[in-house]
Amino acid sequence: MNITPCPGCGAPAEITERFILASTDGPVAHVALSCAGGHHYRMAADRLPAGPSRPPVSRPPTPRPPTPRPPTPRPPASRPPRTARTPSR
Ligand SMILES: [Zn+2]
Repeated sequence: MNITPCPGCGAPAEITERFILASTDGPVAHVALSCAGGHHYRMAADRLPAGPSRPPVSRPPTPRPPTPRPPTPRPPASRPPRTARTPSR
């Protein structure tokens, strides 16, 4: 069952039928709906008011701004290694 707000009164309307009508632009999906207030509509599906009839959209991934990469820490310039005190023999 598909529920959409009635375009006439805003009450929840049930989409009772879905059908395709040919148009100059090609086949267009239409729906027939009847609302709780007794209205009946047949209209192009894409002209339906946006409402809860839409399939729940899974939360889109939040676009993250590109994180500037921190400069790669470079190893310190080659220094002469600390001379360990060598035991004198
Ligand atoms: Zn209505």
